[in-house]
Amino acid sequence: METKRKVKPVAKILNERCDGNPWCPSMRVCPIGAIKVKESRGLIMKKVVLEVDKTKCTGCGKCLNYCAHRAITIN
Ligand code: SF4
Repeated sequence: METKRKVKPVAKILNERCDGNPWCPSMRVCPIGAIKVKESRGLIMKKVVLEVDKTKCTGCGKCLNYCAHRAITIN
């Protein structure tokens, strides 16, 4: 008999929606610092590419409420 493995839900950044704000409120509000800067671009008008550390993320969903662009999903 096949058993389904339970996968814990984690946050995911939708880069096509993210505005690349280096002061991203979702990143700052994460209680365990699971959202990190993956890449930083530009000298004057800085933009960042964010990523979620799946090993740290608890799937609490707090970051969702702080993203004005709806660029974070949990699944
Ligand atoms: S779901 Fe919770 S733990 Fe995961 S990145 Fe968002 S705020 Fe952090």
